[in-house]
Amino acid sequence: MIPHDYHLHSSFSCDCQAPMADMCRAAIALGIPEIGFTEHYDLHAGESDNCRDAFRLEAWSAELERCQAEFAGRLILRAGVELGEPHLFAAEAQALLARYPFDYALGSLHWVGSASIFDLTYFQEHSAADAFHLYFEELEHVTRAGGFDILSHLDVPTRAAFAVYGRYDPAEHEDYIRPVLRNCVERGLALDINTASLRRRAEVLNPGLEILRWYVELGGERITLGSDAHRPSQVGGYLETALATARAAGLKHLTFYERRQPRLAPLPEP
Ligand SMILES: [Zn+2]
Ligand SMILES: [Zn+2]
Repeated sequence: MIPHDYHLHSSFSCDCQAPMADMCRAAIALGIPEIGFTEHYDLHAGESDNCRDAFRLEAWSAELERCQAEFAGRLILRAGVELGEPHLFAAEAQALLARYPFDYALGSLHWVGSASIFDLTYFQEHSAADAFHLYFEELEHVTRAGGFDILSHLDVPTRAAFAVYGRYDPAEHEDYIRPVLRNCVERGLALDINTASLRRRAEVLNPGLEILRWYVELGGERITLGSDAHRPSQVGGYLETALATARAAGLKHLTFYERRQPRLAPLPEP
């Protein structure tokens, strides 16, 4: 049983064509009782013109509320959002969060300076050590600034980096990752255990077992599961793997959100 999928996109994200209702039907077909839509809210100057500041709150919330009514009793539908670089656009992000009763906000880092971490050139221009250290240093700033509830896909650069460097070992970057985890524990930020890279060549969870163990060691308890689906067929994908990895890391709970209040529930038995 998959208790939730808290990282989902629909056609209200500029990189996604899927109608929201189709994503909901996919979740219902899998027996997932609760999902949340987390459309991109991106203001970074490097974003393409059709992605930067593309999120339309009124149209999105109208469709969300229509789906909440259509699927009532079969699916709990949460109002989330994926804030890109919230440390750089704090005022804009907080203004957005004040305009609607969001259930939670994801905080995401997709850019290091002017470089996209999904673009191979970033990795071709840096050594593996530099590429990851620059990213994790920036992520330390993101998590220090806070202003969101859940840290998205902690080590997501591994997704594109795989094509340039091959496998990555988080232990090589431990000194840079631990400060990020410490910030999350101190500020009560949950970790999004993101399965999107399992659908790709890199075949890793973001974050995986080792990082989750460090998080537990530092006192971290809050996690959410996210397929980061951009198509109905990806909803719920590999979330059993995420759950098994969370258990193996010693985590005991899954965190649910309503109106930005966390509620911890025991992880389901295998
Ligand atoms: Zn993201
Ligand atoms: Zn996403």
